[in-house]
Amino acid sequence: MEFDRKVEGYLEVAERVKNYKEFALPLKESELREQGARCMDCGIPFCHSGCPLGNLIPDFNDAVYQGKWEKAAKILHATNNFPEFTGRLCPAPCEEACVLGINADPVSIENLEKNIVETAFKNGWIKATPPRYRTEKKVAIIGSGPAGLAAAQQLNRAGHWVTVFERDEKVGGLLRYGIPDFKMEKHIIDRRVKILEKEGITFRTGVHVGVDIPIGSLQGEYDALLLSGGATVRRTLPIPGANSQGVVQAMDFLAQNNRKVDGLPYSGEEISAKGKRVIVIGGGDTGSDCIGTSIRQGARSVINFEIMPQGGTDRPADQPWPFWPMRLRTSSSHKEGAERVFSISTKRFNANAQGQLKSLVTTGVSWERVPGQRPRLVEQAGSEREWECDLVLLALGFTGSETTLSDALDLSMDPRGNIRASAKDYATNVPGLFVAGDQRRGQSLIVWAISEGRQAAHHMDAYLMGASNLPLKGEGDLPRI
Ligand SMILES: Cc1cc2nc3c(=O)[nH]c(=O)nc-3n(C[C@H](O)[C@H](O)[C@H](O)COP(=O)(O)OP(=O)(O)OC[C@H]3O[C@@H](n4cnc5c(N)ncnc54)[C@H](O)[C@@H]3O)c2cc1C
Ligand code: SF4
Repeated sequence: MEFDRKVEGYLEVAERVKNYKEFALPLKESELREQGARCMDCGIPFCHSGCPLGNLIPDFNDAVYQGKWEKAAKILHATNNFPEFTGRLCPAPCEEACVLGINADPVSIENLEKNIVETAFKNGWIKATPPRYRTEKKVAIIGSGPAGLAAAQQLNRAGHWVTVFERDEKVGGLLRYGIPDFKMEKHIIDRRVKILEKEGITFRTGVHVGVDIPIGSLQGEYDALLLSGGATVRRTLPIPGANSQGVVQAMDFLAQNNRKVDGLPYSGEEISAKGKRVIVIGGGDTGSDCIGTSIRQGARSVINFEIMPQGGTDRPADQPWPFWPMRLRTSSSHKEGAERVFSISTKRFNANAQGQLKSLVTTGVSWERVPGQRPRLVEQAGSEREWECDLVLLALGFTGSETTLSDALDLSMDPRGNIRASAKDYATNVPGLFVAGDQRRGQSLIVWAISEGRQAAHHMDAYLMGASNLPLKGEGDLPRI
């Protein structure tokens, strides 16, 4: 009742696009405490169920309000291994479920989360805590994204010897090679990985399991295995001209740029937006990251196509609180100078005699909805339009897991191309082999990957030991401070 919602501001666009650094302007401690005070400590905190980790949100909000930052950090870490990732990158479904959000602006939970964990790092409160005893069981984790890292820390806490295999030369999965530095600088990952190493986790990078070493040899050496290799198969756009030079998959563009920023070598030709008319096809997180990266590379213009209609900023009536609503979301990258076009579908690419992209052709579309049936895409007659462009980035999402390991192991797959395992136990059809994160649920969010890694770790521990004390969702112990 006393304080309005306030979150971090950003550096001016003209300043921030000069480099790839994060550009949030932190609030003062007194302002953060006021934001913590906005939490009503509801009898039933719906934010708990909005958060896929079951974070104990009113408890850490209250600790912030009281200025007890170390206590807040302990509460936060009870359910979330990596709040420095979610505090920067989570779309915050908790805030959509916040009771205050029914008739006012919700509590700024995500921003408080980031400030709690950064205060804790600054004060040296986040230290390696190796387990007090070892079970002498060995666990292999294949894939070092947020799912693999969360599972590794949990299984190590249970006393197992954990080795994480990663085919890239550095740990982090999409946190490192997908998400641009301006959303999260990569030293944030390195800082956490150093702690995991001190706790006793072994990282074997540059090892592609199923290619460099057979999965069968790991099954012989380890007592349990977790697959956390992500949903890496990219959706394509099979229309005429799709092979033109200048039509590029978003992940090729983003991964190469992250490598350049990190001073790492990359394979293939350089993909640059400098001086080019760029069209990004796909309006999700990946599309938004392509916009911010293109602008920083010096694109002449950036246009973003989205096949869905433009949503409103208000919650639609058929998606009531506390559910996640589909509404127009505008990222910091969108505000850096991209034109957004909705209800549009690309029909073909045109190239010159050398095969170089010169334009694309679109039609306007609408969605026909018949109750009980899936919405049908309808092209609008006479709406064809040609757009001149030099670079097109395809940010169309992912269609599931790669099949090298699932074929070798004869794993059961679900109809969406993910490795099949129930959320009851994360176990595949092969005994001792578990799966978590995007490789199980399909392309998703960091917070879900961490949640899945934690849940899978509990069930792997139970498989190895007969029972597990590792917490399940929402079971984090509150610290006694
Ligand atoms: C461009 C982009 C931006 C995004 N932005 C956001 C965002 O802002 N917020 C958000 O919440 N989510 C975002 N996401 C989604 C989020 O990054 C993913 O949901 C999350 O990283 C999935 O985690 P994961 O651990 O399951 O898999 P990944 O992060 O995909 O990690 C899988 C790892 O496994 C490795 N691997 C695969 N197979 C093998 C093998 N056989 N041997 C060895 N290693 C292997 C891969 O190299 C990779 O490092 C974004 C995704 C993309 C593509
Ligand atoms: S992890 Fe995401 S959903 Fe959970 S409390 Fe933090 S911002 Fe909210």
